Amino acid sequence: MPRNVLVVGELSEGAPTSTTIELVGAGSRLAGGGTVAVTLLGNGAAAAAAATFPAGATKAFTSDDANYDQFRSDQWLAAVESAFGLASPDLVLMAQSLVGRELAPRLAFRHNTAAAMDCVHLADDGGTLKVTRPVYGGNALATFSFATSPAVATVRAKSQDPIEPKAGASGETAELPAAGEARAAIIGREKVEAEGLQLQDAPVVVSGGRGLGSPDGFKLVEELAAAIGKDKAAVGASRAACDLGWYPPSQQVGLTGKVVTPDLYIAVAISGASQHMAGCSGSKTIIAINKDPEANIFKSARFGIVGDYRQVLPPLIAAIKAAR
Ligand SMILES: Cc1cc2nc3c(=O)[nH]c(=O)nc-3n(C[C@H](O)[C@H](O)[C@H](O)COP(=O)(O)OP(=O)(O)OC[C@H]3O[C@@H](n4cnc5c(N)ncnc54)[C@H](O)[C@@H]3O)c2cc1C
Repeated sequence: MPRNVLVVGELSEGAPTSTTIELVGAGSRLAGGGTVAVTLLGNGAAAAAAATFPAGATKAFTSDDANYDQFRSDQWLAAVESAFGLASPDLVLMAQSLVGRELAPRLAFRHNTAAAMDCVHLADDGGTLKVTRPVYGGNALATFSFATSPAVATVRAKSQDPIEPKAGASGETAELPAAGEARAAIIGREKVEAEGLQLQDAPVVVSGGRGLGSPDGFKLVEELAAAIGKDKAAVGASRAACDLGWYPPSQQVGLTGKVVTPDLYIAVAISGASQHMAGCSGSKTIIAINKDPEANIFKSARFGIVGDYRQVLPPLIAAIKAAR
């Protein structure tokens, strides 16, 4: 059965974010011949729409109004409502981002429907949409089906594959109203300087924990990431390591840190507490290095190395360098 999908897109430096492209791809798989509309708001939105058509969108609703550049939920909600009126969606998809976390429940409330947050799997089950999301700090997965329409879902980055780009694809565009008066003012913005590959974008994440014993331990972790490739691997840390001041809190992985879903997650001297696993259990493959064979992390790891990281990492780094 055809289903109209509306994706609430986001821009980064004038281009749709990778998660927007993934959501448009997921939307086009679920639409079954229905429309796949995307909203893009802020400076450069109209030009950025062109990138969404090869990714599966059939319509783009945009506004270049620079007042949308900084996310203010009341302004964005009004714009999404306008697009909603034009698209008549059966399904609304947003990223599990600052934008989605705030807009999804508000939009669902307005339309007397339900919002499922932080979904990692979306499926059509005989016309009913089923979504799966981690629960209990990532220790279990729960599957929900929507009893009301439209279904509103926020989706975890990198949980959906983009479609094979359709070269030369084009679609309809329509302009959304400029931003109205904002009820909230942004009074300051602090930019955390992060060099190189960002944690959430990295195909490989190498994380270190309290078992490293000191901040110096992170030198070996960084060396391992560098050997894998500066364009492939980023360094993360457990909360215990961040709380000790050994690594910047911006790199913390877990329930109260970043959620990462890389192809490969290497946990070095991390016990695997549920709050840490909440941030990395969606990784495609986990390798754990820990001197305690009973460490919880081994339950989630596909490959495990029992040993002192000081002995395990140097030959591993040398072998990776030699193989390059
Ligand atoms: C509300 C709440 C939110 C939280 N949010 C987060 C979060 O977002 N992220 C997070 O990480 N934690 C979070 N925590 C903390 C979490 O419960 C754990 O305390 C924390 O993850 C432990 O970090 P760790 O694994 O580095 O340290 P530990 O649990 O101390 O584990 C260290 C590990 O290193 C191993 N080890 C020691 N020496 C070596 C060696 N030489 N070589 C190899 N292995 C060695 C040990 O065997 C051990 O398994 C949260 C806790 C609460 C209550």
